[in-house]
Amino acid sequence: MPRRLHFPLFAAVMLALPALPLPDFWITQLNSIGLYAIVSLGLVLLTGVAGLTSFGQAAFVGVGAYTAAFLSTKLGVSPWLTLFIGVALSVSVALLLGAITLRMSGHYLPLATIAWGLALNYTMANMDWLGKYDGILGVPPISLAGFSLGSGRGIYVLIWAIALASALAVTNLLDSRPGRAIRAIKNGTTMAEAMGVSTFRYKVIAFVLAAVLAAVSGWLFAHFQRTVNPSPFGIHKGIEYLFMAVLGGIGHVWGAFLGAGVVKIVEDQLQVVLPRLIGTSGNFEIVVFGLVLIGVLKYVPDGLWTFVTRWFPASARVRDWQGAAPLVSRDKPQPGELLLDVDQVRKEFGGLVAVNDVSFQVRAGDIVGLIGPNGAGKSTTFNLVTGVLSLTRGNVRFRGESVAGLPSREIARRGVSRTFQHVKMIPEMTVLENVALGGYLRSSSGTLRAMLRLDRAEERALFAEAERQLQRIGMAGQMHELAGNLALGPQRLMEIARALATDPALLLLDEPAAGLRHKEKQALSDVLRQLKSEGMSILLVEHDMEFVMGLTDRIVVMEFGTRLIEGTPEEVQASPVVRAAYLGTEH
Ligand code: ADP
Ligand code: MG
Repeated sequence: MPRRLHFPLFAAVMLALPALPLPDFWITQLNSIGLYAIVSLGLVLLTGVAGLTSFGQAAFVGVGAYTAAFLSTKLGVSPWLTLFIGVALSVSVALLLGAITLRMSGHYLPLATIAWGLALNYTMANMDWLGKYDGILGVPPISLAGFSLGSGRGIYVLIWAIALASALAVTNLLDSRPGRAIRAIKNGTTMAEAMGVSTFRYKVIAFVLAAVLAAVSGWLFAHFQRTVNPSPFGIHKGIEYLFMAVLGGIGHVWGAFLGAGVVKIVEDQLQVVLPRLIGTSGNFEIVVFGLVLIGVLKYVPDGLWTFVTRWFPASARVRDWQGAAPLVSRDKPQPGELLLDVDQVRKEFGGLVAVNDVSFQVRAGDIVGLIGPNGAGKSTTFNLVTGVLSLTRGNVRFRGESVAGLPSREIARRGVSRTFQHVKMIPEMTVLENVALGGYLRSSSGTLRAMLRLDRAEERALFAEAERQLQRIGMAGQMHELAGNLALGPQRLMEIARALATDPALLLLDEPAAGLRHKEKQALSDVLRQLKSEGMSILLVEHDMEFVMGLTDRIVVMEFGTRLIEGTPEEVQASPVVRAAYLGTEH
């Protein structure tokens, strides 16, 4: 069955179920599963895709549920209006919490989510006007076009329509310009920022979307249960939502549904079976879940969804970009124009002077080599030029304008693009999608457009550009392969194509030939010569002297952070200082 039919078929089956003579109990179970799935879908986006772990999602469910319950019972506000207000409130809370916590790194963010999860839940449980621990009773049913969605079957359709629509929206988002930006932040922010992406902005977007999904689930929950109290919004429930997503497959949209289904069904069974086994009742299913979670993380880290994809191997997404309009391109510098002016730059790491007042220039149309033994400060110099590291002293000017102190995405916007000594990519995306990330700054579709699939014309233009760049470096044949499956050589070439897709005025390549076989090195130097003949300006870090000699117009030699000498390849080769430096380290 073609892949594009999977979703409509699944949606049709799910939405037709209440018309069948199923027992009410099943419908109720499916309602809970749908509600859970909406929340864990948010976690797939936030934790699975963006790499930001949250234990606090249940609190956002509470925000949606309490808004609905309070406004409809106390003030008689229509449920449709409370949905709107609940979502707006969750967005505000998420923006506030996100602004404070999303800049935290490592384990601080998950810890912070526990803190605010507890705080929000505590607030719900201690407010007189929210009914304290008793909560709010008598929430009215939702009615839609005169029909009351009070019964299990009525609200079922609404729950599952929203769950399926959300899944579709998130699927669309992941296959889009903002989606690629979100996928790029999981393995560190340096590469995404170098492609012009504000990673903080996309962290906030993922966080807000996850909060909105949770709040919508809470709104449905309040009208489904017809009552709210603080306990379903506590931190234990937040952990359970995360468990569902991890169990199902935290990197996959449908893993959220699978995890929600399995957890709900197993939880009910355990509540019956465990007391019989142990002889007393209590929340022992939590203990079982804890043990299962450890097992899943150890043995099936990608979750149960991997078993499903094994039965239905994914066919490649069909892409078609015939006749796509070209992306905008920048005015190119005139040959000989002073492009990059590195002026007395210095970088100290504590007591270590990694770059010691180094100066050099790159003019348009030139290939300049930056060479020197390991640890000479070449990569650090690159990081200073591209804004990855801040200068201790000195200045960097690009096309006459000082770029010192600018974040690297702003330097990228001005036309500097780079590759990395250690390849940085999104291994689970195709080569084509990785290269399309390079077109980020030349396109504009935002999150909402992407979720509604209104971005297709621009997407075609991005893929056409990505293919063009892959052709330019002779890699078009591998564009549909997963980047993570490539050998090191093609991965390095892919990074060059991605950098080219930014339409740079200056290309910075950090050891592009490292780890390549002799033949691959030759192919690479052909590609670089070709780029030069097309007018590209390149600053090239390289360890391999031979590779650089035949390729560059000028060479800057560094050792121990200082500039040793600058000159033509012949001058450098003849220099006794350089020989000493190289012989000194190679032996
Ligand atoms: P190269 O690229 O020429 O091999 P690097 O620029 O990577 O050299 O490193 C230059 C020196 O700076 C090395 O001694 C390295 O250990 C040190 N260094 C690089 N990055 C950091 C960092 N983030 N913190 C501390 N020291 C660093
Ligand atoms: Mg280096």
